[in-house]
Amino acid sequence: MTEKLYYRDSYITDFSAEVTGVEKHPNGYYVLLDKTAFFPEGGGQPADTGVIDGISVTDVFEKDGFIFHITDIPVNVGEEVSCAIDWEKRFRRMQNHTGEHIISGLCHRLFGFENVGFHMGSEFVTIDFNGFIDKRDLRRVEYLANEAVCKNVRVYSSFPEISELEKTEYRSKKDIDGDVRLVHIEGYDVCACCAPHVSRTGEIGLIKILGSEKYKGGVRLSVLCGFDALCDVNKKYDNIAEISSLLSAKPDETAAAVSRVLNELQSGKREIAGLKSALASSTADSLKETQGNICVFTDGFDYDALRIIVNRGVNLCGGVCAAFSGSDENGYIFIAGSKHFDMQKASKEINSKLLGRGGGRPEMIQGSLKAGRLQIETFFYNFKDNFVDFE
Ligand SMILES: [Zn+2]
Repeated sequence: MTEKLYYRDSYITDFSAEVTGVEKHPNGYYVLLDKTAFFPEGGGQPADTGVIDGISVTDVFEKDGFIFHITDIPVNVGEEVSCAIDWEKRFRRMQNHTGEHIISGLCHRLFGFENVGFHMGSEFVTIDFNGFIDKRDLRRVEYLANEAVCKNVRVYSSFPEISELEKTEYRSKKDIDGDVRLVHIEGYDVCACCAPHVSRTGEIGLIKILGSEKYKGGVRLSVLCGFDALCDVNKKYDNIAEISSLLSAKPDETAAAVSRVLNELQSGKREIAGLKSALASSTADSLKETQGNICVFTDGFDYDALRIIVNRGVNLCGGVCAAFSGSDENGYIFIAGSKHFDMQKASKEINSKLLGRGGGRPEMIQGSLKAGRLQIETFFYNFKDNFVDFE
């Protein structure tokens, strides 16, 4: 069995240990030490990283009471090694994890809900409860959790005897074989947990519930505590400051300013659609009667505008009227109609010759083309020759 230094003291960052075993595996060397401060994954908290004699420890796991440290390079069995864990990462996890206990303890006491899931992701921590908690109640939980931080109460662990354990009320996600390690947060929570935590709630710093969503009949919270919460606040504040400057609005009035800009954008879009439709009508008015085909090239028109032109053009020509919008660089969208040819049948040939995608009804088709204008014009002005069969 490996002696677990993190059980005794979660603040041990550097320690010396004896190498008791090394095994080679496809993903690296599994190093065993007589004692370790490296926490293996457990209780929702990921494994520590760090170094053994300067060699990186990329992962740590526990099996049958032994803790295996995964390294790329082996160390010698029997040697005394100096080890260090990545303390900043570990401390932030301790802040988040202890914050999670406080929130879970509060939700249990206030609403009777159990924590049924806990995950420390790369962006935030998620906590799942088996009952729904609305936003107002979550604000209350958040306030009380931060009050627990201000009270700076003691956080400690114990391994009670079975008889004592039976009398103790504590939260637990699963039935535990063997010794149960209880983590106590004075006045707030008692929970079975194997992970390291901070020793006083004041070290957690800010506890911030970032959001909530309905999840499996309950609720999933996204949460950050301590330095991670500070980083998140800074990131979001920088973003709001930028929006605030772009919109010339006070930081706490940006939502109203964005809403105003979106309304302006909507009315601008409606105005442009009206102008396009007027421009399309005017283009349609300028079409001349012909026995041949009509091709109209525009830019910035949508299908609705192109349809206005084609609807008029099919009555003025003896062949096909096609209207295009776009450029050689970006490609074209088009609508083509005819009272003389089956456009649906023709679309296969159009797609293959002009690198197109699209289709429609015998009277009218629409789609996009990647061919250049010259190629498109040559094709459509000679349409009759190409599609004699369909007459
Ligand atoms: Zn815990």
